[in-house]
Amino acid sequence: MIPGDGIGIEVTEATEPLLIELAAAHDVEIETTWFDWGSERYLEEGALMPDDGLETLKEFDAILLGAVGHPDVPDHVTLRNLRLPITKGFNQHICKRPSYLFDGVESPLRGYEGGDIDLVVYRQNTEGEYADVGGREHQGFGNEVAVQSAVYTREGTEAIVRAAFEAATERSGKLTNITKSNAQAYGMVFWDEIVEEVSEEYPDITVERLLVDAGSMDFVRRPNEFDVVVASNLFGDILTDIGGIISGSLGMAPSTNINPSGEFPSMFEPVHGSAFDIMGEGIANPVGMLLSMSLMFEHLEEDDLAETLWDGVGAQLADSDAPRTPDIGGSATTLDVVGDLEERLLE
Ligand code: ATP
Ligand code: MG
Repeated sequence: MIPGDGIGIEVTEATEPLLIELAAAHDVEIETTWFDWGSERYLEEGALMPDDGLETLKEFDAILLGAVGHPDVPDHVTLRNLRLPITKGFNQHICKRPSYLFDGVESPLRGYEGGDIDLVVYRQNTEGEYADVGGREHQGFGNEVAVQSAVYTREGTEAIVRAAFEAATERSGKLTNITKSNAQAYGMVFWDEIVEEVSEEYPDITVERLLVDAGSMDFVRRPNEFDVVVASNLFGDILTDIGGIISGSLGMAPSTNINPSGEFPSMFEPVHGSAFDIMGEGIANPVGMLLSMSLMFEHLEEDDLAETLWDGVGAQLADSDAPRTPDIGGSATTLDVVGDLEERLLE
């Protein structure tokens, strides 16, 4: 457990007891270890996590991260000191983010034809536009020019593409590949070639190609037509924020960082950030964390637990009398929501 900063700490602390009790009720024993790695540690000791952080984490089956980010620490510092070392160090090439509009949740697209949302984005998680090529990308030329590179390796691209094809096989058989190959004529064309190659192994999957400008538009205009979407690091980042907001609230979106080989632990976290604007009020929506825990169970092949938790959250959201946090139109606290879910699932 790495609760991190701000409401990351609140949603992690509020949900962990339920995680353990629910697992116990299914005869699964969960042992958690807490790490106070985050921005407070950075402000005191100059690093978000210790030098041997990865060595320590290696021993675990899974990592749950709350959120990192602090008003007094630049975002690129938090990112480069905690999330990136973990996602890169553990080859977590795959970021899987479902967007699902639950019954009983308001969305800007609710009631709109085409506004039913049940899609999953497979975002490349270790390279692409966010690749670090040894600091060279920061070099300016007399302060007049900055160059930023993007890196697409066969390993990193194939991992995400393959995972997306696998998901499409288990879902509706349709995969949308979202790129910008007309403007980024090297990396994205290489990406498209790999999609083409891998598609030969999946003759039953229909592959649709969209440019990211059109794809973003369609995420709002006709999200019901998407099922599995595969995209690069940057585009996946943007598309999943759209996916988050059209399915209710950023506070409800779950995320996973998967190491496909299983050699290293995978990491699960809500999409939302540390949200210092609401920190300390006890009103952070715990749903993003709860759904991330469900995806963790799925990854650990505890499908019963994964389903029970996901469906429990769904039933709670569908019940207009159930407590809900202010971001989705209620007035309940984080603990009210978790307490109510606990009653539903354990009593
Ligand atoms: P980051 O720097 O990672 O973008 P952030 O602190 O800006 O993080 P976001 O996750 O981008 O936070 O969230 C934007 C706003 O949405 C927050 O300021 C907050 O008001 C709201 N929000 C986000 N997550 C939640 C949540 N779990 N519950 C309630 N409101 C949330
Ligand atoms: Mg933000």
